[in-house]
Amino acid sequence: MQFSIQREKPTCNCGVFGIYGSQNASLETYYGLHALQHRGQEACGIVTKSTNQKNHEVFSVHKGEGLVTEVFVDQEIFQHKLKGDVAIGHNRYSTTGSAQSIKNIQPFIVNYRLGNLAVAHNGNLTNAREIREELVNEGSIFQTTSDTEVILHLIARSKLNDQIDQIKEALQKIEGAFSLVIMTDDKLVAARDPNGFRPLVIGKLNNAFIVTSETCAFDLISAEFIREVLPGEIVVIDDEVIQTREIKSYNIHTSIAPQKHCIFEFIYFSRPDSFIFGHNVDKMRRRLGKVLARNHPVYNEDDNKVIVISVPDSSNTTALGYQTELEKLGVNCRLEIGLIRSHYIGRTFIQPGQANREIGVKIKFNTVKGVLEGRTVVLIDDSIVRGTTSKQLVKLIRDANPKSIHLRISSSPITHPCYYGMDFPSKEELIAHNYNSDIQEIGKYLGVDTLEYLTIDEMLEAVSEAGKDNFCYACFSGKYPTVVDHKFKKEIYEI
Ligand code: SF4
Repeated sequence: MQFSIQREKPTCNCGVFGIYGSQNASLETYYGLHALQHRGQEACGIVTKSTNQKNHEVFSVHKGEGLVTEVFVDQEIFQHKLKGDVAIGHNRYSTTGSAQSIKNIQPFIVNYRLGNLAVAHNGNLTNAREIREELVNEGSIFQTTSDTEVILHLIARSKLNDQIDQIKEALQKIEGAFSLVIMTDDKLVAARDPNGFRPLVIGKLNNAFIVTSETCAFDLISAEFIREVLPGEIVVIDDEVIQTREIKSYNIHTSIAPQKHCIFEFIYFSRPDSFIFGHNVDKMRRRLGKVLARNHPVYNEDDNKVIVISVPDSSNTTALGYQTELEKLGVNCRLEIGLIRSHYIGRTFIQPGQANREIGVKIKFNTVKGVLEGRTVVLIDDSIVRGTTSKQLVKLIRDANPKSIHLRISSSPITHPCYYGMDFPSKEELIAHNYNSDIQEIGKYLGVDTLEYLTIDEMLEAVSEAGKDNFCYACFSGKYPTVVDHKFKKEIYEI
């Protein structure tokens, strides 16, 4: 039996993209999904809307398992299958619903009383199980095991006669994290949960409007960023908006909820070239590195410079911030590329007997020995989840004969699961949970000379420009900003 290399980082369950008013809607969505590939690599799909000879709206879909380049292998798909000037797309890594089920690949499409509807969702609904049970008891038949399908059922069952009212009514019933793009027969609708857990941004490309998870998707197609979809806001794009250039906006609720953006988007998940939650990810990640250096510096042990290296690629920017600040503190130091990462591992398989040896990490990383040998090395990483990969990585660096290895982490120890769309292993698999957040003991297990993490306060200080109180950090503290349904907790993780 063979199995794939274990993911060592948390994964987010999606990236979304929607465009209204472009002749190349499907191709631009494809490029958008390409830029959002880091948000989900298991499956992807695009749905377009066109009008047939009888003047009926037609929704066309292409989706499959794998990377964007694996699912959309043929240009014909865009020319002949995915026609139309409106499209939505989705990259998926599943947190709820079986990752294996093809049926769970989004966008989902239904045809109901008021026409066609397609939806793509980033986030996790924390009361989807309850709602689903109610709907099943009332006779609804579900096609998938995904929480997103609940949204479609709620819209389709609404007694109201206006689709925006129906969407609003449905969104008032769901809880948790959602950044949504919805396509109807004549509209593109985007909505963000009242806490704003996940990012969602609006842009324009010539005459067309776009909504997507991160601004890096705009850059790839030379689109222009307009603004973010506000927490608790429903944004509507239709032909009237294309003519007037005035985006229609509605509130999900009358009251305003506290903003609780996922701090992990800044720490690790979003791309550094994106602008989310009102700030550049690059700037925030550098600040995390600077605060890490200020509070957890490493000093010279001899006349040699301290060598700062990152675990590529997600920690590169943080390492840059760390080294700059360390130098300001008077430490003779240099940023080096000490680890080389292979970008071509895909779904590489390893034999079970090799699982606990270094092969998994060696396939992915190699050291530059000349950089590390005999040096005081600071290794910057954004997070430690299970610790198995970090341990193997430290062993790899140790083999290059450094004088000492000092691991610095730009987040706090992860002690709790996420219920808002980031996929962590169960509590029992989290190294910080297993060692009761005893950092010295974790350091010993990993084999480093010293290990230090940012504290929660330091983490919040680093992102304070975006408002210290505006963040969710529940996976580090266990303090969830919303009430989470007990059954949902049980379903996702053992509690
Ligand atoms: Fe982000 Fe952690 Fe909150 Fe989940 S629990 S939304 S990963 S900060």
